[in-house]
Amino acid sequence: MGSRKNIFYTVFILLIVLFVVSCTKNQPQPFTRTEFLMDTVVNIKVYGKQNKKAMDMAVDRLREIEDRMSVTIATSDVSKINENAGIKPVQVHEDVYYVIEKAKYFAELSKGAYEPTIGPLVELWKVTDMYGEERDSIPTEEEIKEKMSLVDYNDLVLMEDNQVYLKRKGMKLDLGGIVKGYAADEIKRIFEEKGVKSAIIDLGGNIYAMGEKTSGEPWRIGIQDPFSVASNYIGILNVRNKSIVTSGDYERYFMYKGERYHHIIDAKTGYPSKNELVGVSIVSDKSIDGDALSTALFVLGIEEGTKLVNQLEDTNVIFITKQKEVYIQEKIKDKFTLTDEKLKLIYNPY
Ligand code: ADP
Ligand code: MG
Repeated sequence: MGSRKNIFYTVFILLIVLFVVSCTKNQPQPFTRTEFLMDTVVNIKVYGKQNKKAMDMAVDRLREIEDRMSVTIATSDVSKINENAGIKPVQVHEDVYYVIEKAKYFAELSKGAYEPTIGPLVELWKVTDMYGEERDSIPTEEEIKEKMSLVDYNDLVLMEDNQVYLKRKGMKLDLGGIVKGYAADEIKRIFEEKGVKSAIIDLGGNIYAMGEKTSGEPWRIGIQDPFSVASNYIGILNVRNKSIVTSGDYERYFMYKGERYHHIIDAKTGYPSKNELVGVSIVSDKSIDGDALSTALFVLGIEEGTKLVNQLEDTNVIFITKQKEVYIQEKIKDKFTLTDEKLKLIYNPY
């Protein structure tokens, strides 16, 4: 009896020791939280001191942002703006105003490749809740033309006292291409205030790598493989205090007659954007910039997209093409390692 008990205790203690050893090996285990928010999987990892307060505040803030800015929540500020399109301006929360100001700025900068009033076309195409399924029809030319006439960031008006107005009835604001970036910046701000120094904030591929590893080395962020979405990556980026945001055609799309229709719409054609790209990642200081730009550059393609990014400070871009090429700017070649031999590395000529 007694010896059996001893064996039991020995095994038990051995397991605890093994567990502790495995936890302290290399990088210490992070304090992690996973939630489904903003229509995506949110994963936050805090390294160093376990800071539950900071984590709770971050998640509460995400909910607040979603409640104010989601186009699918009827009581959100964005829904109120949309309901009152062509009727009257709506006063919104200060943070909502800030995001819309940024959205308008990136719309102007990209000449409508990033188009925050894309709502009517997004609604028509309904791609956002599809993950590769087959469909037996697409919108008609007529429907597309009609919705296109309701899309124009010039008719998005920002007024004093945080008031926002869409000039014409039927217009719809959609902040889906920018809000996750803003949310990542907000979590970073909260963490800074609460003394968190090292964290990985991942909002469905919209990543902010805060600080550095506890070992003092830079973070190693995988760039998602657009050709095999099962969490593989094609290369690794070494960064400290950077946002890495990726837009691609491989997560939200449907198939129709053998063709892929994805969720980023080109306001100039009314159709999902069509060019050489399958993915684009923006490396920047602010995630709100990275989010708007990744959407814009996915529409613009390599040449125009790179020319736009070159006008901005501390902003870099990695493109992945249908031909399995990876275009990186020569200035980040020391920070990027291609790990997948099926892809070809090319220095961006623009
Ligand atoms: P994801 O949300 O998958 O990370 P993006 O940041 O590129 O990808 O945003 C895509 C979302 O933005 C779409 O689901 C839609 O809500 C909206 N959107 C689609 N096309 C555009 C566009 N041309 N400009 C701005 N927003 C867009
Ligand atoms: Mg985006």
